[in-house]
Amino acid sequence: MTSAEYEGTVRMGYAVARVQLDTALADKSRTAVVDQVGDFSKLPPAIIMDIDETVLATGPYQVRLMDDTVTRPADLMARWVEDANAKALPGVLEFIAYAESRGVTVFFVTNRNSEKEAATRRNLETVGIKLPTDRDTVLLERERPDWTNDKTTRRAFVAATHRVLTLLGDDLNDFISAVRLTSAERRAVVARESARWGRDWIIFPNPMYGSWEGAAINFQFRAPADDRRRIKNESIRAE
Ligand SMILES: [Mg+2]
Repeated sequence: MTSAEYEGTVRMGYAVARVQLDTALADKSRTAVVDQVGDFSKLPPAIIMDIDETVLATGPYQVRLMDDTVTRPADLMARWVEDANAKALPGVLEFIAYAESRGVTVFFVTNRNSEKEAATRRNLETVGIKLPTDRDTVLLERERPDWTNDKTTRRAFVAATHRVLTLLGDDLNDFISAVRLTSAERRAVVARESARWGRDWIIFPNPMYGSWEGAAINFQFRAPADDRRRIKNESIRAE
């Protein structure tokens, strides 16, 4: 997470996102949600952002996780979220400010659990993101009964009232439902939707964790090391 190349890549992503935001605002036939249907052309514009490794950096947590004395990663994650000390990724604050200046509502869709809403909102505000008080724009897993770890229902919730210009995330599930797909199936989805990358969908690198991990081992979480990954994933997965 000290890699200058990583920072350059993230800044590149936000630069592309800004250009695409302008283009999508002007073209009212565009939506970034694959199943947004009906006449959405007159709906107010919004974007949907994942939080961890899209808006907030989890590097310090990942470093703590490397400590072999950590036996309960879920507790470590809970404490780290409650600390609400995560820093913003490079370029993200400028991008959000620009989107808001163009009248675009920014929704955050995260698989942090709903009990982490207060801490999550606190962290977003600490880095300088001003959240509206007249509506909830931070949509967490299980905040509503049908808001599962599959983000599809939360994308549909936003798409019911807004035209979604852009999706931004670090995991395939931030863009389209890919829960428990195999590695080959995941690649097929990426290829099928190839026209959306860098256009409707802006993806950021995350070699540390993601839904690709489970797919890589066919979801056979057995060994203690894998179990640590599973718990970590279930805790943090944005995805
Ligand atoms: Mg994420």
